[in-house]
Amino acid sequence: MKIFLYIPLVVLLLTRCGSTEEQLIKKANKIHASILTVDTHCDTPMSFSDPDFDLGVRHNEGCVDFPKMIEGGLHAEFFAVFIGQGPRNDSSFNVVHHKALETFNAIHRNVEKNANVAELAYTVADAYRIRKSGKIAAFIGLENGYPIGMNLSRVKQYYDLGARYITLAHTKNNDICDSSTDPAGMENNGLSSLGVQVVKEMNRLGMMVDISHISDKSFFDVLKTTTAPVIASHSSCRALCGSPRNLTDNMLLALKDNGGVIQICILSNYLKTPEPNSELDTKLKDLQDKYGDYNALPEDSKKVVRIKYREIQKKYAVSATVKDVVDHIDHAVQVLGIDHVGIGTDFDGGGGVDGCRSAAEMKNITIELLRRGYSKGEITKIWGGNVMRVLRKVEEVAGQA
Ligand SMILES: [Zn+2]
Repeated sequence: MKIFLYIPLVVLLLTRCGSTEEQLIKKANKIHASILTVDTHCDTPMSFSDPDFDLGVRHNEGCVDFPKMIEGGLHAEFFAVFIGQGPRNDSSFNVVHHKALETFNAIHRNVEKNANVAELAYTVADAYRIRKSGKIAAFIGLENGYPIGMNLSRVKQYYDLGARYITLAHTKNNDICDSSTDPAGMENNGLSSLGVQVVKEMNRLGMMVDISHISDKSFFDVLKTTTAPVIASHSSCRALCGSPRNLTDNMLLALKDNGGVIQICILSNYLKTPEPNSELDTKLKDLQDKYGDYNALPEDSKKVVRIKYREIQKKYAVSATVKDVVDHIDHAVQVLGIDHVGIGTDFDGGGGVDGCRSAAEMKNITIELLRRGYSKGEITKIWGGNVMRVLRKVEEVAGQA
């Protein structure tokens, strides 16, 4: 007899769970429909070397295109002009400078080709105006200051082409500063004298200095040099995951003093320290042995490596989840407050976790934020309000120069 008493209770619980989940989805949809959401880092332009690649078409492969952004309620994206670190001499500087220019132009072409759904954004005012018109705002960031070479005038050239941040270095040291992950260790003792000039020039022009990827010493040197707030366009919290790419709590507190923002990176290895995984290591090593230095490869081979890398990760890696992403957001909010945290996916550059593999699934982060009690106002800040405040301040500082 007892069982009959349980049934209504179970039914009641199930209906309540169902409706709560539905309510969260509904609430997330409503929020995305009324705010500006910004992702500060994707590497999608790596695919633009293929002249037929069209952001306006939904792709099976890859994380970011306009249809996926529309589906996921993502309204603004910083498309990265990514230049891998290579030799540091005049002829190499010229080669990568031209490669950077080509990528800038390819982004312009891809956005202009889709003028019915997207528009290039150069200012905070642009972003909100474009959002209001119902279109996607396409910002540009330069990932790695390497193509500047020794030629400071290139900073303005990139600014004029739309770059609104420069990530000072990538995985290796360059002439601007030390990287957090160069096996060679420290070389410039942080920010070099050229680096100081680059930061000042970016302040003068109105570009956000991006401290993702740079070493701890470089980070603190940047904060001593800059007259405007800075961003970490795609970095997570070292207290939760020990990668040197992530920011320590001390760095977070310094970032708060600077008025800047950390944009939590949703790349699995920066969210959760990976367990030993020999099968994955072997497959990745085989790939590396077969193709050698990625940066030295011709474009068509790079594309093959990217596809194979993704397949291996999908098959063998244990991925972080949306909950891990929001754990990092929670931690950053606890340490530096709600006004200094945002999201930088690193999509198409390794970013993506279970539950949020592409721009089409962005709302799952919002749903988890709602589940943990974040208000609409707080979500508005995390999803773009904070980074737009930083960019506005950067624009003001440039205006005063
Ligand atoms: Zn990166």
